[in-house]
Amino acid sequence: MRIVLLGAPGSGKGTQSQRLVASHGIPQISTGDLLREAVAKSTPLGRAAKAAMDAGKLVDDATVLGMIRERLAAADTAGGFILDGFPRNIAQAQALEGLLADLGRPLDAVVLLDLDLKVLFKRLTGRRTCRDCGRVFNVFTAPPGTPPHCERCDDMPNLTQRPDDQEDVIGKRLEVYEAQTKPLVDHYRNAGLLRVVQADADTDTVFRRIEAAVAA
Ligand code: AMP
Repeated sequence: MRIVLLGAPGSGKGTQSQRLVASHGIPQISTGDLLREAVAKSTPLGRAAKAAMDAGKLVDDATVLGMIRERLAAADTAGGFILDGFPRNIAQAQALEGLLADLGRPLDAVVLLDLDLKVLFKRLTGRRTCRDCGRVFNVFTAPPGTPPHCERCDDMPNLTQRPDDQEDVIGKRLEVYEAQTKPLVDHYRNAGLLRVVQADADTDTVFRRIEAAVAA
């Protein structure tokens, strides 16, 4: 299964990708995670990407495409993959098509996680990550204590907020989504690949909807 999970920041792409990883045994390729890892390790790529990320803007296409090209060449993607947060604009989508055509591995589907802007804003401001196990909680919808969690998860001071989840940056990220990423909805609809999933429900329900949409 080779799919793209498309959706605004906070629509649940990361959470649902992890569910798909568990049920299909294929890797999640999250450009956001790869970039955050590069920033944390302070690699040249991470240092170059940090300013754009902190401002809620897109990192330049060449950097992101280089990362994706390298990741898709890894052996664990042979059985499929879940692209999470990539592509983010039309140029990236076109580059991805070329790359996958060269590999002889075209996309099977693009799943849009559709959610109201107001809900997105609340989800993003409430998001917190456990410093120890990396599990993501939400102070409004999935507070600490919601299983599964490690011993440190329930300790609020041990939970961190992503720098780009601050309110002022969230506004910018949603703006960038509307202007640059949303045109991909029509792009993939025209290509006959788009499946729309209503993401305004609990994690299990949304997961079942995704599975049904991909199988359809
Ligand atoms: P995410 O975790 O997907 O919300 O991504 C966090 C940040 O990483 C975004 O706000 C961008 O600054 C950057 N980023 C992630 N994926 C991409 C991409 N495909 N193209 C450009 N920038 C990206």
